[in-house]
Amino acid sequence: MSKLDLKTQIITLVQLQTVDSEVYGLKEEKESKPQEIKALEISFEEKKEQMVNLEKEALDLQKERKDQELELASKEEAIKKLQTQLYSLKTNKEYQSMLQQIQDSKADASVIEDKILQLFDQADKKKGEVEQEKAKLKEQERIFHEQKSKVEERIKVVDDRLAQLQAQRKQIIPGVDPGILAQYERILHNRDGLAIVNVKDNSCQGCNMFVPPQVINLIKMYERIVTCEICNRILYICD
Ligand SMILES: [Zn+2]
Repeated sequence: MSKLDLKTQIITLVQLQTVDSEVYGLKEEKESKPQEIKALEISFEEKKEQMVNLEKEALDLQKERKDQELELASKEEAIKKLQTQLYSLKTNKEYQSMLQQIQDSKADASVIEDKILQLFDQADKKKGEVEQEKAKLKEQERIFHEQKSKVEERIKVVDDRLAQLQAQRKQIIPGVDPGILAQYERILHNRDGLAIVNVKDNSCQGCNMFVPPQVINLIKMYERIVTCEICNRILYICD
């Protein structure tokens, strides 16, 4: 293999790296997308669940009010009954005692009435809250679908670009010896998508470590592929 030959191949590998860096970035982005969609779904589901809970609270208030109304009715019924019995009593003591009982029951009924009024009030407020949250949820649903389709559109764009890059790769690859290509791809795989790096100011641009002058001389000779002693990436020098 001539010196010019290896230099040409290095230049080709640098071109390939440009393509592969973009591929690597896009693949990483694409892999994060399902999680992104999942997070959007979970967040929207949570909001829907909050709505269900709120509606349940509104129903509970209604149910509680109905229970109290029933209790009030039975209290009133009992008072009526006591009142009819009142005049059939024989002693004053019995009369006084039942009068007290009626008063107590009326006091109880009054407490229940207050409670019912309170529950009406609470139910009104809750109803307003439910309406407000329903409107919010509708807006959130719109935003959720919008965000989700944005992510899906981005995935399509990424896929299209990846297909273009794969085509570019196919055109570039024949310009590199299969053995060198295999070495490059192995490093690419093991070193986060970066296989060939520049040496600048005596430091490897892959790991920032010092590259000794004798190694730099070796690179300039283009007799063989030279790799960084620290990060193992293929080194080249722009000249
Ligand atoms: Zn290095």
